Amino acid sequence: MTDEKIKKSIAPCGLCCETCFAHVNGDIRKYSMKLKEKLGNFHINAKRFETMLNDPIFKKYIDFKEMLDYFASENCKGCRNEQCKLFKDCGVRSCHQEKQIDFCYQCDEFPCDKTNFDTGLYKGWIMINEKIKKFGLEPFYEKTRTRPRY
Ligand code: SF4
Ligand code: SF4
Repeated sequence: MTDEKIKKSIAPCGLCCETCFAHVNGDIRKYSMKLKEKLGNFHINAKRFETMLNDPIFKKYIDFKEMLDYFASENCKGCRNEQCKLFKDCGVRSCHQEKQIDFCYQCDEFPCDKTNFDTGLYKGWIMINEKIKKFGLEPFYEKTRTRPRY
């Protein structure tokens, strides 16, 4: 796979947009839509099952459905196409454009203090970029796209 294609999935910070719950073509959205389709009008029957099976778990279906609807409706086209919907004050996106580099690991300032990431994300950002540098972009992408992001 070419670097240009991989760049559609991997953000400049190194995070994988393809495995993000918010991505329009991500598996989380895709499978949520599929599950919604398969469940059909289950919400109408949830109350019935609660009584019939005497199982209070079905009370929680409404909350589950709300979450599923949310995942199924996500529509982010990825960091290089629009502003990240999760990390609104991300400093990497505009910075990498100004510096005209594809990924932070290529930058002579890496690791810098311009990301605005919290401590956990900052550590992850360093680790990810060190991995891309060490193993190469394509091997990193092939591994990361099959792993859960969360
Ligand atoms: S840009 Fe942000 S919200 Fe959109 S898919 Fe990538 S990580 Fe998720
Ligand atoms: S200065 Fe920091 S945020 Fe900007 S491209 Fe370099 S490493 Fe990334």
